[in-house]
Amino acid sequence: MLSIQNLVKVYPSGVTALRGLDLEVPRGMFGLLGPNGAGKSTLMKILAGLLEPTSGELRLGDIDLVRQPERLRPHLGYLPQEFGFYPYLTGEQMLLYLLRLKGVSAPRGLKHLCAELLERVNLTFAAKRKVKEYSGGMRQRLGIAQAIAGNPRLLIVDEPTAGLDPEERLRFYRLLAEMADERVVLLSTHIVEDVAMLCPRFAAVRQGRLVAITSPTEAKAALQGTIYEGTVTLAGLAELQRTRRVTQGVLFEGRHRVRLHEPGGDVPPGFERVPPTLEDAYLLLMQGVAPTAAPPERAREVAP
Ligand code: ADP
Repeated sequence: MLSIQNLVKVYPSGVTALRGLDLEVPRGMFGLLGPNGAGKSTLMKILAGLLEPTSGELRLGDIDLVRQPERLRPHLGYLPQEFGFYPYLTGEQMLLYLLRLKGVSAPRGLKHLCAELLERVNLTFAAKRKVKEYSGGMRQRLGIAQAIAGNPRLLIVDEPTAGLDPEERLRFYRLLAEMADERVVLLSTHIVEDVAMLCPRFAAVRQGRLVAITSPTEAKAALQGTIYEGTVTLAGLAELQRTRRVTQGVLFEGRHRVRLHEPGGDVPPGFERVPPTLEDAYLLLMQGVAPTAAPPERAREVAP
């Protein structure tokens, strides 16, 4: 269990990135979902021991991360947002180098461990290829290989799927899901689909504060019977944005497909009730809206 209490971070520039965060993260995958600038990377760097918090308490089991950060090191795996690779090394050479830096103990030798890790992340076929020839997804998998070396109790992955194509993303999801069986995995992302696919629970963060701790199922259920979809012109969209709670407006075949949160059910002509998505819930939370439930008979309706 990772426990975070009243965590505050004020950068020397005066920017307050974390405004008193409280969070208990159990074993398994946990998402930290928020837009750019919400404070996710700041939290990740503090947990990884790369930044000092201004105040607050952090514990992983019996380890006090603020007072004894060196005790965490052997139990920590970290895949930062910007992972530096040496492009002219092969995947195997790069991983060996990172394992030496990390000081991982390898009773059967580092080369053996390296081969095992490459196998685990499905990169054996590319062990002898230069990292510069790797796709984005292969680089991220190599990043995970170094992060899980030493079998850490806490694995932190910061925005790992940004820039991956859909197929690479799916493959990466499978790998991350496997990693969450026996440890705490904290996944930071601004991509709602990452959370929908992977996280039984997640925290939504906005401007350095937690705005919700929930599950994808709970977050959608809270909106049951309150989301309506219709198609409007650009002028119609502007009008709705002024007068209604718009969760999403996307271009579809040259017109604007709009989703509204309307608990009372009083919607413009042509709008139809639709099942809520996690994206609806997230976008409402980011607008600072605690979703209002529909009347009980509509809230109980089962989504088609
Ligand atoms: P996220 O990872 O959610 O995008 P960050 O933790 O990177 O958010 O940033 C949170 C806030 O802290 C932003 O306002 C950002 O500009 C600021 N910030 C991040 N790093 C620094 C830094 N090294 N110095 C000053 N401000 C920073």
